[in-house]
Amino acid sequence: MKRIVLTLIWMVAVIQITPAQNLPQLNYFLPDIPYDQTITKPAAFLGYEVGERHVSHDQLYYYMKQLAGESKRIKLIEYARSFEQRPLICLIITSEKNQGQLETLRLRHLSLSDPKQSARLNVDDVPLVLYQGYSIHGNEASGSNAALAMAYYLAAGQNAEINELLDKTIILFDPCFNPDGVQRFSNWVNSHKSQTTVSDPTTREFNEPWPRGRTNHYWFDLNRDWMPQQLPESKGRVRLYHQWRPNVLTDHHEMGSNATFFFMPGEPTRVNPNTPKLNQQLTKEIGRYHGESLDAIGSLYYTREGYDDYYYGKGSTYPDVNGAVGILFEQASARGHAQTTSNGLLTLAFAARNQVRASFSTHKAAVGMRTKLLNYQRDFYKTALEEAGQDPVKGYVFSAGKDQAIINQFLDILLANQVKVYKLKSNLNSITTETGYLVPTNQLQYRLVKGMFEKRTTFEDSLFYDISAWSYPLAFNLEHKELNATDNISSLLGEEINRLPTLNYTLQNKGTYAYALEWDTYYAPKALYRLLNEQIRVRLMHDEFEIETLSGLKTFKRGTLLIPVQHQRHTGDQLFSLLKEIASDCAVSIAPLSKGLSLNGIDLGSPSSTVLGLPKVAMIVGDGVDANDAGEVWHLLDDRMSMPLALLDVSGLNAFKFEDYTTLVMVDGVYQLISAGTSARIKSWVASGGNIVAMGRAITWLNSQGICAATTKANVSSFEIKSGEVPMRPYANVSADGGSDLVAGAIFNTYFDETHPLAYGYSGKNLPLFRSNRIYLETPKNAYAAPFRYTSNPLLSGYITKTNLDQLKNSAAVLVSGTGAGKVICIPDNPNFRAFWYGTNKLFLNTLFFSSAIAGSTIQRAE
Ligand SMILES: [Zn+2]
Repeated sequence: MKRIVLTLIWMVAVIQITPAQNLPQLNYFLPDIPYDQTITKPAAFLGYEVGERHVSHDQLYYYMKQLAGESKRIKLIEYARSFEQRPLICLIITSEKNQGQLETLRLRHLSLSDPKQSARLNVDDVPLVLYQGYSIHGNEASGSNAALAMAYYLAAGQNAEINELLDKTIILFDPCFNPDGVQRFSNWVNSHKSQTTVSDPTTREFNEPWPRGRTNHYWFDLNRDWMPQQLPESKGRVRLYHQWRPNVLTDHHEMGSNATFFFMPGEPTRVNPNTPKLNQQLTKEIGRYHGESLDAIGSLYYTREGYDDYYYGKGSTYPDVNGAVGILFEQASARGHAQTTSNGLLTLAFAARNQVRASFSTHKAAVGMRTKLLNYQRDFYKTALEEAGQDPVKGYVFSAGKDQAIINQFLDILLANQVKVYKLKSNLNSITTETGYLVPTNQLQYRLVKGMFEKRTTFEDSLFYDISAWSYPLAFNLEHKELNATDNISSLLGEEINRLPTLNYTLQNKGTYAYALEWDTYYAPKALYRLLNEQIRVRLMHDEFEIETLSGLKTFKRGTLLIPVQHQRHTGDQLFSLLKEIASDCAVSIAPLSKGLSLNGIDLGSPSSTVLGLPKVAMIVGDGVDANDAGEVWHLLDDRMSMPLALLDVSGLNAFKFEDYTTLVMVDGVYQLISAGTSARIKSWVASGGNIVAMGRAITWLNSQGICAATTKANVSSFEIKSGEVPMRPYANVSADGGSDLVAGAIFNTYFDETHPLAYGYSGKNLPLFRSNRIYLETPKNAYAAPFRYTSNPLLSGYITKTNLDQLKNSAAVLVSGTGAGKVICIPDNPNFRAFWYGTNKLFLNTLFFSSAIAGSTIQRAE
């Protein structure tokens, strides 16, 4: 009987959907219940029905404001601004009665995550907090379109079920996680919409141009930034998250157009080991509500395949390490208005309706499992302390030496993740109290601390939806040490850090002879660009020198920048005031010097120095180029270093004047759209002194064009049998075998030649690099041409097969190649990964500033 009823409901649904001419009505999405007539319906505001066309971000924003103005159930807050200055908003939706005591309820709910208070808390009095978020990938738009109907339903719906929901829960309703992406995508699809349906997948509407709407302004994937929080959208969102500590967070996405619908749990063997087992059981139990809700309309779906809960930088996984349950939804994408797929015609309305159904089932689960989820959160923090007590690792000590700017970036991430961090009270090996910090494991965020610091090289599964390693001390290239029971942690714990230390870089005194600017701080390249752009003459010192400064004797390392007072366009006073400004703006240390003769090492007028030129940098972007990687470079130079970067579209290179630039950046990508003529022009530009920085597959392209001479090793499959008869393998394993052969984001150790200009600013012997490809460079015959190489045992953290690891061992990590007067610097890895790989940004920036200062150490290409 039940089945017959369900079939009937399903048939009604099918009749309502079909062609675009039969436009959906609001009742296609929402149940037939009474609605408050004073609340504006979406169509009355927008002039079109939900699902009829794609809502733009500004329309969505103003409709949400309209609802917030009309409904006493809603309080609207703006929690961040995107790079393009679009507001990120959240509607706090709950009963009118709860709205009247929102702050009391928030604090009561927060005390659940504090074991000192939570034991005496009666969860009957605590509302469940549910965070529902839509379309973090801007071109996965059914989420934000569904949010129109959902917000209306929550504002206007009148029945006992809604009353109970609003009474027992506080909903943080986030209609759009990615305003810039949604605006970019909606503009494309709406401007290509036809009045009569055109559903051919190859039509222009479904094929947005590079970089597409998935990402934010600088082409970052916001759904990888929940833990590192390098972008304003995530910073604001995670701040809001911790103000409320939700019990459930849902993250509404889309996937390929021929797929169905996915909801979590994901792959059971790919759950991050720091996530409690009970989390996955609760995810499964919540999944039953989703299943029922989709069964009722006949929508196909699946669970436990493809997606996973491993990387904590994702919206559906970050909550798992914060006492909550994160749920990922993936709906097949119409990627426009109505597209032909292997399941028939897929409309935006159909996709949005599934998102609405999954939002309803989340409400049902929130009410039905309320006490269970609240108790889970209470226990999560209680057991965190118990597990921390049993963990042999007692804490992590780290230091960035004197680089206050870089350590502040890391402290910022820790504080934003509610991690307790302290100054180091007594010296530990070479880490001193002056620059050292300590994160104890015995704290409420124990699991997240483990998730951020630990290095892991063994795994239950060999496939990863995203990266397999992200250990922060490695990403920041920090000197660090794990503490165990024999380290007396209480003797090491200093004062707790509650706010970021102020950066105190100042230049007090005027130099009468010269100034020395040290290169080993994060923003030194920003300072150098500013100096060169002001036409200040700057010498790069290729050797150490020990010299008298006003504050005593000091040794300056290789790579120090020397700014003589003479030979400048500026007067001594002008130079002093400019340098004073730069020291504090760019957080760099500048020392005034009064003479040129050093006590040890080179003198200030030494020929072991190079007068630096202003880098004029351009980057090839567009079809074939990895937009994430390109965006990371753009963000690094523009946002962090205040350096202009010309973005050259690959389709317009024929008209581009290479001679106006000193340096061309080519990130990972396939460059086959570059014509033979342009390739020849790039080659002659390099021959006459132009420099290229090439990463990933750009190296392969430059090799194929005779522009560089890096020898790549042949790719060997980990499953290839070298000799003898090939044994049969199960066909069912074919995709898993292929996936496990990838290097899907892991961290490897290199050693480097600290006398090489590309290594200036680095000290110590090793530099960890992040890698997510299988491009292995042979070490060259020229002994100077590979100044960074992988060690013989390079795996620091993450997953890699033995075959791949063997290929990587001792291979070149940075290779200096060239044609004529120019250099091609090849870096197979990505030194700017997701904006949180601070440790290798300097390597990349060195290539922009110092390539021309590398003499006689290149491998020349045989002509
Ligand atoms: Zn997505």
